[in-house]
Amino acid sequence: KFEGVMRKLSGQATISEGNVRESMDEVREALLEADVHYEVAEAFCETVLTEALGESVLKSVEPGQQMIKIVHDELVKLLGGEEAMDDEGRPIEREPIMYVQPGPTIIMMSGLQGSGKTTTCGKLAGYMKKRGKNVMLAACDLQRPAAVTQLEVLANQVEQEVEGSGKVMFHGEPEKCAEYGQAVGVAVQVANRALESAKLQGADVLILDTAGRLHVNDELMGELRQVSNAVNPHQIYLVIDAMTGQDAVNSAKAFHAQLELDGVVLTKFDSDTRGGAALTVKKIVGEPIKFIGVGEKLDALEEFHASRIASRILGMGDVVSLVEKAQEQVSEEEALALQEKMEKGKLTMDDFLKQLQAIRKMGSMKSLLGMLPGIGNQLKDLNLDDKQIDRTQAIIQSMTVAERKDVDLLDNSRRRRISKGSGSDAKDVSQLVKGFEMVSQLSKQMSGAGMMSKVKSMAG
Ligand code: GDP
Ligand code: MG
Repeated sequence: KFEGVMRKLSGQATISEGNVRESMDEVREALLEADVHYEVAEAFCETVLTEALGESVLKSVEPGQQMIKIVHDELVKLLGGEEAMDDEGRPIEREPIMYVQPGPTIIMMSGLQGSGKTTTCGKLAGYMKKRGKNVMLAACDLQRPAAVTQLEVLANQVEQEVEGSGKVMFHGEPEKCAEYGQAVGVAVQVANRALESAKLQGADVLILDTAGRLHVNDELMGELRQVSNAVNPHQIYLVIDAMTGQDAVNSAKAFHAQLELDGVVLTKFDSDTRGGAALTVKKIVGEPIKFIGVGEKLDALEEFHASRIASRILGMGDVVSLVEKAQEQVSEEEALALQEKMEKGKLTMDDFLKQLQAIRKMGSMKSLLGMLPGIGNQLKDLNLDDKQIDRTQAIIQSMTVAERKDVDLLDNSRRRRISKGSGSDAKDVSQLVKGFEMVSQLSKQMSGAGMMSKVKSMAG
């Protein structure tokens, strides 16, 4: 909706005070629908209005663009924006985590039951392992032995599956669960021993997973405060489920009152969430969102950058994040080699396959396309099938080396053989070949038209 209002505005050659007021009414409505707190929405629109009417926006050459910039900048502020700018006025993005020397840097998670604390512990461990950190995950949620096991399984999974020079360790004492609820301070003992162990084993980071409750209560807060007093975490993160909207905001208030929070992790941002929580949290907690969880898998964690999210909300896309994701999967060397091939129109099926595999590793098709400018919202109801990519892979893998190099070889009998070999329809094979030819053609044209520099300037 937000995107629609903005598109309408930017399309107008002239903008009157009436236009601006009208569109701010629509923006207010969009914010409220997205579950943004009433006062926050009100204040937001008020600020934008004042700026828009006060400045020379109405007389400027591109009033629509000017308006969008004002709204964008206000959104960034609301989201807990990056204050620092570089020489060219671009926000300087800081590392979300400050590591202490000597380690271990102690990070304590907090949040309601089901908000995603344990999952986020695993994701953070992966994030850090990739960056060469040795991480220890400690299970201080002793409500059920299964909670301890869940973290242990995650720790092992990260250690085995995530590439990186760091090491992931685990500290858990499932037998202590029996004492939990009878004796006070069991979680504190476990946290203390985890810290000892982390020091002994040279962990750079110790992440404490903690117990949650369905609702905020004194028992939970008391325990979290005890653990916090015992180990003095360098950072305390509040994990919030973005799907719970206004409830999330209320519980954030309660945690904020009881603990010295340093940052927020907003989970389930991938779900069809209305996102209002993201816009309200900074205002309530006073601390920035550090990460967003965008899926159940271990790599579904993104650094939170206010200006990028603001762009996504406005339908301007998030090319920077997309490029970063791509860079994680494709080395610069590979990318250059590929670009050269594309320019010469010498793309082969093997290159195509490699690209598909890289895309598959980057995340779901839908989430990727959602980052492209102007596409985000249109995809909402589209059912993009990731299995389609797997089927395509199977077809290419059924081709001979020669066929992959030169699709012109693919006559009907070869196509029949391939469709049999890959267990797919003849129609699918034809479609793939057609699609491939289109991509080769397009890539030749795009490189000719200086597409790469266009993308770069958008990313800037
Ligand atoms: P905890 O009780 O706070 O420790 O929550 P868990 O880590 O056990 O997570 C609760 C549920 O939320 C699990 O089913 C997770 O897979 C799911 N979950 C956590 N983070 C995300 C996320 O970013 N996206 C989605 N879609 N699901 C998530
Ligand atoms: Mg948990």
